[in-house]
Amino acid sequence: MNCGCAESYIGPPLTDTCGGGAFVIFMGLLDSFLRKKCEISEICQRVAPRLSPDSEYDFVVIGGGSGGAAAAGKLAQVEGWKVLLIEAGGDEPPGSQVPAMVVNYFGNPDLDWNYQTEPEPVACQGFPEKRCTWPRGKVLGGCSVINGMMYTRGTPRDYEKWVQADNPGWSYEDVLPIFKRFEDNQDIGSFVEAKYHGVNGPLTTSRFRHQPQLAFDVLRAAEEIGQNVTDDLNGEKYMGFSIAQSNTRHGVRLSSARAYVRPQRNNPNFHLMLNSTASKILLGSGKRQANMVEFIYKGATYRVRVRKEVVLAAGALNTPQILLLSGIGPKEELEKVGIAQVHNLPGVGRNLQNHVAFYMGYKLENRPATSDLDWATALDYILYQNGPMSSTGLSQVTARINSPYADPSGTDPDLQIFFAGYTANCATGSIGDPEDPEHPLAKKDFTVSPVALHPKSRGYVGLHSSNPLDAPKMVANYLSHPDDVRVLVAGIRVIQQLANTTILRESYGMAPDHEEYGECLSKHRKDTDAFWSCAVKYYTGPENHQACSCKMGPKSDPLAVVDNKLLIHGLNNVRIMDASAMPVLVSGNTHATIVMMAERGVDFIKEKWLEANTIEERLGQDSQRSPGVQAPVKQSASYSFNRGPSFPAAFQHSDAFHRQNPHLPNPYFGYNGKYAGLSVYYNPHSYNQAKHQHKDSDLDYSTKPYSSRRKTDYEQF
Ligand SMILES: Cc1cc2nc3c(=O)[nH]c(=O)nc-3n(C[C@H](O)[C@H](O)[C@H](O)COP(=O)(O)OP(=O)(O)OC[C@H]3O[C@@H](n4cnc5c(N)ncnc54)[C@H](O)[C@@H]3O)c2cc1C
Repeated sequence: MNCGCAESYIGPPLTDTCGGGAFVIFMGLLDSFLRKKCEISEICQRVAPRLSPDSEYDFVVIGGGSGGAAAAGKLAQVEGWKVLLIEAGGDEPPGSQVPAMVVNYFGNPDLDWNYQTEPEPVACQGFPEKRCTWPRGKVLGGCSVINGMMYTRGTPRDYEKWVQADNPGWSYEDVLPIFKRFEDNQDIGSFVEAKYHGVNGPLTTSRFRHQPQLAFDVLRAAEEIGQNVTDDLNGEKYMGFSIAQSNTRHGVRLSSARAYVRPQRNNPNFHLMLNSTASKILLGSGKRQANMVEFIYKGATYRVRVRKEVVLAAGALNTPQILLLSGIGPKEELEKVGIAQVHNLPGVGRNLQNHVAFYMGYKLENRPATSDLDWATALDYILYQNGPMSSTGLSQVTARINSPYADPSGTDPDLQIFFAGYTANCATGSIGDPEDPEHPLAKKDFTVSPVALHPKSRGYVGLHSSNPLDAPKMVANYLSHPDDVRVLVAGIRVIQQLANTTILRESYGMAPDHEEYGECLSKHRKDTDAFWSCAVKYYTGPENHQACSCKMGPKSDPLAVVDNKLLIHGLNNVRIMDASAMPVLVSGNTHATIVMMAERGVDFIKEKWLEANTIEERLGQDSQRSPGVQAPVKQSASYSFNRGPSFPAAFQHSDAFHRQNPHLPNPYFGYNGKYAGLSVYYNPHSYNQAKHQHKDSDLDYSTKPYSSRRKTDYEQF
């Protein structure tokens, strides 16, 4: 298969993403086929990254994730606007574009920041050092490259709350047209209605092309216990159990980068720096105008001048970090690490919100744990992009429901339910082979998780040091408010009812995997509310929807960081377009809402810069550039790389921890020794070996040759 361009090598391969040597040959072959299938790998559609930036841009976008890739792609469409996108990670490997490989790259340092919280006071008590693990995408496309692809907006009430928090212009009526504008919904007329969905936008949306039978049977079970079932959680009936729509196109993951950035590949005004870490935004002498962005690339520091605006989109954890590194934030936090305050904004890094979950493991006594991936299903995907590889298995099922503690109006659901299992992501290739070669007689298993949608606990993001290459300090503070525990326990009761339905119990033999949860069983009677309250604190499910750490709000709100046009209070030309700017966390997965915010952010920029505004309106009072600074300023960097303690491989835990605790729940799989057999570890040893082999044989492991382009302009190594 020839894709019609010089074949670039974008790593890392799937070979190293499945623990255990038994998988290496098949996964290696599969990876090669995926790379050579042009519709899947889109090897010729990638934007060639630059080797160095130009000195000046109209817009500099920091972070190429859900929000940043959308913002950069949209800004670059405007004729005459020159845009630089700075992304800390590399390009998306073909393997991660396969929906079934949804967890394969967790923990892989080429794609995942692999963050750990500080030791938690209440939650994550059963994990090493009581830290929760947060996978975060460090790759062009950000978390939209490693997320579950579930397309879920907030509920109408969520956006009402944004307006109630004094953010005019963000009501459901305001944001619905934006959601419709960027969608290209393939299911209108079948599962969803045109009243709520759009076509011809960049974000192709549809149900996955494959569902395991169990997905439909879970919906039947939900009906049996009197729960609502709906076809569209983003439509009229936004509550109930459902098979969700996904962010995929033709059976392949549609990250923000694929949707918004790749179409700019031939745009000479769009520049991309990969593997480049933004370290600072520099303000002019009046301290109201950003005029430079500093970043580190291959050990050297660069500064680029900004003619119009900076868009900060490094995500809910790194956006506050970059502001703090720039001296923008609360004085006490800056003083701790010796950074001089440049602009006082007490809310930077505060008010961190995240959903919180608990993983309940179940076995299916009547189903052997055979692999959903084999030569036949692989062929189905490679030839037609169909079959189990084109979906996330049971993870596409979800529910949004009311617990007894939900708002009595019934319109503000406080519980989501996630499912996980039946994922075709690692195999030896033979049909009927066990999922885990070390446990050939194991039964199929999966997890079901209650998720608290309106947590009252708040965390924060701060700094460990002034080194931009260090991880930020992250405190989740999960379950520090007792109401969050109560909601999770209510969710556990719904899941227990579900497991006890005729269809799941009798036909599948669904039965709980029992667990003591540290001291919980010795302290509390089994299956009491007190027992489960203890358990959720022990093996807390640290969800992936971090948000609100630079929240939108009026100037009168001491914690507000941006105004309702996403502009940082007190600055004329820095906007935030990522999860951190949400004023209140939405009731569901966050990607779609973040894309909507970025789309709107670009609208605000266009309103300002394309209309006939005065120079003062556009630039504010501090419109002069700081004198005497040339861009780019290339200096040798003095930063050392220290990300603090990190656990090399795991989705939630270290390799050693998995081995010692084979019963530990995992949100994407069940229990039963899967850690030994399945993908969730990354093996640094074999990875490094592969990397060196590829280097030796002239394959470019990190960011591709793009040899058809001028060597001097583009990143080659
Ligand atoms: C495992 C997982 C599963 C999820 N599942 C779903 C789901 O199914 N559906 C859904 O809607 N949402 C899901 N989410 C949540 C959703 O993907 C995220 O909320 C969303 O992608 C965050 O978007 P963002 O733009 O705020 O940040 P990100 O997408 O994280 O983007 C930030 C980008 O900035 C880059 N960056 C950071 N620091 C710097 C720096 N200093 N310099 C340069 N670049 C930098 C990062 O590398 C990254 O690319 C999931 C998230 C995860 C992690």
